[in-house]
Amino acid sequence: MEVKVLKFGGSSLADASQFRKVAQIIKSEPERRYVVASAPGKRFSDDVKVTDMLYKCFNLAKNNENIDDEFKKIEDRYNKIISDLELDFSLKEEFEKIKIAIFHAGSDYISSRGEYLNSMILAEYLGYDFIDAEKVIFFHEDGNFDAHTTNKVLASVLENHEYAVIPGFYGSMPNGTIKTFSRGGSDITGSIVARAIGASLYENWTDVSGMLMADPRIVENPKVIDIISYKELRELSYMGATVMHEDAIFPVSESGIPINIKNTNAPQDKGTFIVPSTEKAEGGRMVTGVAGRQGFSSITVEKDMMNQELGFGRRVLEVLERYGVPFEHLPTGIDTMSVVVSTAAIVDKMDNISTDIYRAVKADKVRIDHGIAMIAIVGKSLINTKGTAVRLFSAIYKADINVRMMDLGSSELNVIIGVDEKDYANALRAIYAEFITR
Ligand code: ASP
Repeated sequence: MEVKVLKFGGSSLADASQFRKVAQIIKSEPERRYVVASAPGKRFSDDVKVTDMLYKCFNLAKNNENIDDEFKKIEDRYNKIISDLELDFSLKEEFEKIKIAIFHAGSDYISSRGEYLNSMILAEYLGYDFIDAEKVIFFHEDGNFDAHTTNKVLASVLENHEYAVIPGFYGSMPNGTIKTFSRGGSDITGSIVARAIGASLYENWTDVSGMLMADPRIVENPKVIDIISYKELRELSYMGATVMHEDAIFPVSESGIPINIKNTNAPQDKGTFIVPSTEKAEGGRMVTGVAGRQGFSSITVEKDMMNQELGFGRRVLEVLERYGVPFEHLPTGIDTMSVVVSTAAIVDKMDNISTDIYRAVKADKVRIDHGIAMIAIVGKSLINTKGTAVRLFSAIYKADINVRMMDLGSSELNVIIGVDEKDYANALRAIYAEFITR
């Protein structure tokens, strides 16, 4: 039988009515066998996620303050889910244990309890086995995820459980203490479980019907991406488009397992498929999505005949390396070289960097400009389709926007342009209108 792994985010498990939807989804297909759960998320926009409540308790305890009220709120959230679901089940002993641990355990242990408790309730409600992530997800001594041990142990444990719920977000260190992934890390757990069991599909259930082709805060009602390759997703997430944790792609991509982003509140919607490659996909659009980020600076180094000087680029980059500044883009001309970096990375060392570059390459001029936004237009047939650049530039020109820099062709998948931050939203809208709406 095919196996599907499902991960439900916090808003999908925020209260009993969401639990009911989740159970209905899971039970509608027998191959939906392994479920990864997040901690209860927000029920309404001003609500507080249980994970944040746990961090708060931890900080109160660290400052020797009373945690009773805050901890009671956490207990109430779970107890309400249990009673609304009419379960004959109690977490009383677990609460007692955690409340004591808050005063001596690490913050990773405390914050992980959100997933732990919620998964226990979900397992009980579904009649599925509960597998504690602590026993199947492992980290190395240095805190990095231990894929090798995890795969081995997880695969053999899952073989003994036909249907199971596994808490997301955490695992254990070699010494047995709990370690969490970064925030939103249940997405990674889902991907790890899908990989270990060789799932046919990893379904990531959330509260939107897929990944959008542009930021909805800028473009009105953007369309949903039907299908996107792993690589295109990386390009878009790097530029700020988010739908799941950035690192969640890696475990499944190693074995080519597709991901389907689905909406718990609209399960009939197809959502977005994230697949190894879209080469063979029928039809499709030229552009998969547009995303961008602000807060970049460009360091422009000018020197006559720079292009003939061996090692020029290396010396400039060495200066940045010495200051621990990674570069994002590198548009070059004959007598100029620009390095685009994040403004935050250079803000407190700008003068030193500029002086050192002068010295390192005996530059005629070094200039640092701020306030640049970078926009990536991502799509598999973008580069080898005639007329892409003309369409892009005339759309930007018609919107009365000046392109500060561009990078076309260094990746098969994207065209990147830099504009002034003040033009960012308009540029994004103009590109969306040209390539997606038309
Ligand atoms: N509950 C954790 C968080 O709020 C992890 C997750 O939901 O994926 O970040």
